Amino acid sequence: MSIIVQKFGGTSVGSVEKIRNVASRILEEKQRGNDVVAVVSAMGKTTDTLVGLAREISPQPSKREMDMLLSTGEQVTISLLTMALIQAGQDAISYTGWQAGIETESVHSNARITNIHTEKMTSQLQMGKVVIVAGFQGMTPSGDITTLGRGGSDTTAVAIAAALKADRCDIYTDVDGVYTSDPRYIINARKLPSISYDEMLELANLGAGVLHPRAVEFAKNYQIPLEVRSSVEKIEGTYIEEEASMEQNLIVRGVAFEDEITRVTVFGLGNALTGLSSIFTTLAKHHLNVDIIIQSQTDKNATNLSFSIKEQDLQETLAVLEKNKEHLGYTHVEHESALAKVSIVGSGMISNPGVAAEMFQVLAENDIVVKMVSTSEIKVSAVVDEKNMQKAAGVLHTAFNLDASKVEEMSL
Ligand code: ADP
Ligand code: ASP
Ligand code: MG
Repeated sequence: MSIIVQKFGGTSVGSVEKIRNVASRILEEKQRGNDVVAVVSAMGKTTDTLVGLAREISPQPSKREMDMLLSTGEQVTISLLTMALIQAGQDAISYTGWQAGIETESVHSNARITNIHTEKMTSQLQMGKVVIVAGFQGMTPSGDITTLGRGGSDTTAVAIAAALKADRCDIYTDVDGVYTSDPRYIINARKLPSISYDEMLELANLGAGVLHPRAVEFAKNYQIPLEVRSSVEKIEGTYIEEEASMEQNLIVRGVAFEDEITRVTVFGLGNALTGLSSIFTTLAKHHLNVDIIIQSQTDKNATNLSFSIKEQDLQETLAVLEKNKEHLGYTHVEHESALAKVSIVGSGMISNPGVAAEMFQVLAENDIVVKMVSTSEIKVSAVVDEKNMQKAAGVLHTAFNLDASKVEEMSL
């Protein structure tokens, strides 16, 4: 008998009607003779509403209490969905993250899963029950509730699939697959039949919110086949697997983008030798994630350093830099907010030089100023003004032959 893990996101469980629909998708899988574990998110915009409530109380709420609060959203869904299954005649049981045995590191708001104790889930499956697990949450070894970062239910599902050695993990959502870019913003975006783990990981890390990056990481490391598919329409979705076929020999497979980026520049770093490591060690100690880094030596004795961070981390970053100013040895700090990062991704880039040059040319032709750049073997990212984000993504999507209409023409 196969074990299948299904994951249903917030929109897919946004009302009682939708929860009944999810129950019927689970029943279909069960009736095919499979054991089913379903991981679910909080209903609709519940998590956003809870975040809003906390902010009304405090601008920077305690991270532990925030996890305590946000974990309640998923708990509502698991109980309602389990009731729906029982009502439909299928025995089922709901588990919070910790009841399901999900152990995480002791970091609030963005914890990594360190271990899954599967005994409870396994024994319930053996009794013929469907197991419904709250996504996005776990527990530290000392018993505190943690959450896995926004969008983290995907990671719960794939991690459970890995721990149970499931045959498949299906991610049911409000789009019918992974597209060449976010179809909500890029009207010409096209559904991909398949995509490799590496390309999906880059897209997810670079802002394609359809999958949580750590979910793709788990899937790649444990070779779990993933399918992203619609929770409403019964059609094939997108398969995420080891090697996706190089359809149309496209060099670029997708365009991702992310707003609310800030560039911080530290001027006059005195000690070029140790200055860099001191700054980034200090920021890392405070769990502040730095993305693109650019260093420039103005003269023999002074270095300027620019780096990009998420806008939400700005105040804490500035405070940490200010507190350590003497020890870090710099003259002053400036920042520029309202920036965005637009990235092109594709494993075809490895063997095709000149992709970055083409990207910059297209952006220049469209009067879009590039403020920072970063590259890897399979991606190029450019930081631009936030107001240019959607335009930049759109023109790159067209220029790299990703538009739906363009591909139809090419295959004629
Ligand atoms: P869920 O609540 O099911 O987890 P999410 O909102 O987290 O759903 O993810 C689905 C959304 O991801 C889609 O509605 C779409 O707007 C967005 N998205 C971003 N990039 C892509 C992409 N490349 N392909 C498909 N959807 C994308
Ligand atoms: N409910 C959480 C969120 O909105 C987790 C998830 O949906 O994956 O981010
Ligand atoms: Mg999601």
